[in-house]
This record gives sequence, C-alpha cells and structure tokens, in this order.
Amino acid sequence: MSAVTHYRCEICGTESSNPIHWFMIECNSDALKVLRWDTATASAPGARHYCGEAHASVYISRWLEAACTPARPDFNRPSAE
Ligand SMILES: [Zn+2]
Repeated sequence: MSAVTHYRCEICGTESSNPIHWFMIECNSDALKVLRWDTATASAPGARHYCGEAHASVYISRWLEAACTPARPDFNRPSAE
C-alpha cells in the first residue's frame, strides 16, 4: 500500500501530506506541551496538528483561557482565616 497520510490543521482546516513546518500540541487539563513536527508522533492517537506558529498560538490561547475558567478561588484566598 502507498497511502499518503494527510494531516489537518485543527484551527483552519488546511491539509498537507508533507507538513514539515507544522507543530503539534499535547495537552491535558494540567499541562500543555508544544512539539516540533515528527511523523511518528503526529500519527499517534489524540495528536493535535497546527499549520504554523500562528495557529498553534490560537490553540494555546484557548487552552489558557479554559484553564482559568472558572477562576480557582484557592489561588486567591488568603492563607490565614
Ligand atoms: Zn492552520
């Protein structure tokens, strides 16, 4: 088989079979990690693909907003009661 894998940007929907300047992001509710493009990693289940820095940044901004919503009162509460 000679199937070509096409990767799709999560933000704009651009597809590429040779996304050498793309980035990947791994994240959960506690951490977010930006990865340089690696075909093996990109093919892993749950990998998120972005066509460049601009669209990776869009996702990071959304993640940051979500991580702070709702605000966590424990961080703002005085330690002494
Ligand atoms: Zn994009």
